[in-house]
Amino acid sequence: MATTGTLYIISAPSGAGKTSLVKALVDSEPLIRVSVSHTTRAMRPGEVDGVNYHFVDHAQFNAMLERGEFLEHARVFDNLYGTSQKWVEQTLAEGFDLILEIDWQGAQQVRRLMPQSRSIFILPPTQEALRQRLTNRGQDSGEVIERRMREAVSEMSHYVEYDYLIINDDFTHALNDLKAVLRSNQLLQARQQQRHTGLLQELLA
Ligand code: 5GP
Repeated sequence: MATTGTLYIISAPSGAGKTSLVKALVDSEPLIRVSVSHTTRAMRPGEVDGVNYHFVDHAQFNAMLERGEFLEHARVFDNLYGTSQKWVEQTLAEGFDLILEIDWQGAQQVRRLMPQSRSIFILPPTQEALRQRLTNRGQDSGEVIERRMREAVSEMSHYVEYDYLIINDDFTHALNDLKAVLRSNQLLQARQQQRHTGLLQELLA
C-alpha cells in the first residue's frame, strides 16, 4: 500500500487512559486523524454514533466482513470491533498521520499488513490505579470490573510486541511522551525529504 502519512497503532488495557490521551493529542495536532471503528457493542452513556464508534448490529458487521471492508477486526469482551480499510487508505493517502485505537489482536493483523506502521502501548502506573479508574467510571458492576481487570492483565502481557511503551502515571508527561514519538517519526529523513523537496534541491544546487 503506497502511503504518505504514518499509521500509529495505540493499544492499552481499558482504564489506562488511552482515549483521553489520544483526544488531547488530536486536539493539539491538526494533521492527525483517529479512525472511528465499527462495533457491535452497545452505546455507553455520552457516546455518539459516528464519533466514538460506528455502532452496528451483528448482521451489518458480518456483511462488512464478508465484503472484505475491514483492515482488521477482533472480538473483544464479547463484542466485535473492526477498522474500515477504505477510510485508513484514503486518510493516509491524503498525507495525514492516522491513529488506530485497537487491541493487541488487531495490532498483530495491522503489523502484518502494514509493516511500516508504528505501535505504542500505554500502561497504567500500577494495578491499583487501573482498578481505581475502572471503578470510578461507575458504569460496571463489581463482577464486570474484576473480569475487566483479568482482561487488562492479559492485554498488558502483549506490550513486548509494540515499538514504544508509555506509562500513564502523570497525564501531561504521558501526553508529551506520545507527542515525542509522533514528532520523531515526522523528522525521519524520508519524511523530511518529502516535505522539504524544494529546500533540499536549493541547498544541494
Ligand atoms: P471499548 O469497548 O471499551 O471502547 O473498547 C474495548 C477494546 O476494544 C479496547 O481495547 C479498544 O482498543 C478495542 N477496540 C476498539 N476499536 C477496535 C477496533 O476497531 N479493532 C480492534 N481490534 N480493537 C478495537
